[in-house]
Amino acid sequence: MSEDFYSVLGVDRDASEEEIQQAFREKATEYHPDVSDDPNAEEKFKKAKKAKEVLTDDEKRQMYDQMGHERFQEAEKHGATEGGAGGMGGMGGGPFGGAGGGGGMNDIFEQFFGGGGSRSGPQQGADLRTRLTIDLEDAFEGVTKQLTVNRPERCPDCDGAGHPPDADARTCSACNGQGQQRTVRQTPLGRVQQTQTCPQCDGEGTIYSETCSTCRGEGHVQEESTLEVEIPAGIRSGQTLRMDREGAPGENGGPKGDLLVEIKVEDHEEFDRDGDDLQYHHPISFPQAVFGDTVEIPTLDGTVEMDIPAGTQSGETFRLRNKGMPRLQRRGQGDLYVQVQVVTPDNLNEEQREALEAFAEAGGEEIDVEQGFFEKLKNSF
Ligand SMILES: [Zn+2]
Ligand SMILES: [Zn+2]
Repeated sequence: MSEDFYSVLGVDRDASEEEIQQAFREKATEYHPDVSDDPNAEEKFKKAKKAKEVLTDDEKRQMYDQMGHERFQEAEKHGATEGGAGGMGGMGGGPFGGAGGGGGMNDIFEQFFGGGGSRSGPQQGADLRTRLTIDLEDAFEGVTKQLTVNRPERCPDCDGAGHPPDADARTCSACNGQGQQRTVRQTPLGRVQQTQTCPQCDGEGTIYSETCSTCRGEGHVQEESTLEVEIPAGIRSGQTLRMDREGAPGENGGPKGDLLVEIKVEDHEEFDRDGDDLQYHHPISFPQAVFGDTVEIPTLDGTVEMDIPAGTQSGETFRLRNKGMPRLQRRGQGDLYVQVQVVTPDNLNEEQREALEAFAEAGGEEIDVEQGFFEKLKNSF
């Protein structure tokens, strides 16, 4: 059961349009999502807006007063499908009596045929997008970064109005101050009136003698702002952080939009990332591969020791549990996969050479070592 529009705004039934506008502004401020702690702020705001829209429209208000809250709501819901066309053609002979005449019906029709909404209500500002690059260490730790954005802000000189406060105002002649222009077109259901925002006054209904020179009438100016972005540990490249109410300013007291920050995590010199896991390549010597060893492996969180078992093959991969990236907004960490590579020595000293030759001989291998590159090089000195 929804509340009567007058009580939503807290005004008397004979309140003037001025009083209704004022009451709405107060509600809008009270339930502004920026400032309100009320968990139902958004819904209350919408209710107040709806109430204002109906009660500041003479035709709609008249209908509303005659029909009462419930019937009016019903009429809005079904107006387009039930006898709407007849009402349109019949001029006052429609199911809702002559209350609003054809005009009242038309207003209901507009809601179903995509007529442009009035721009007079508060509107949330646009979302803005930007990018921020961090390195893998930052993504591992989580970090607070400074972010400089060039974004529209409410013009400080006119406070967003687009004109100096002392500018002369006159009613827009293109729309007679309605802020909207109506066009009528024929449809199978009858004549349908469409409403568009007046291009002359941009929906304000008023033309001002001067425009604000700072913002050239736009109501906002581009300004550089530095923000602090909290980047959570475990974030991945391409993920987007939403900063509430850091976007473009709203219109007519509406809230700001959001700022969407797309994060790019730079590639790391040592670690390859695969989701929450990391990969690392570690060189080992031939004897280490043969006999096994304990080696030190770097991680993003200091070095750890890793056992290489005897008889390890080049290219084998070992897993270090929980040494990968933190899981975003969850407990735990991914793993670090260490792929070992046996490095073939290319600068043996004499002793090593002899030992290796002996090794080959002991295994029954016949290698023509005299023709080796090393040998030839040595002989040329
Ligand atoms: Zn206009
Ligand atoms: Zn300005």
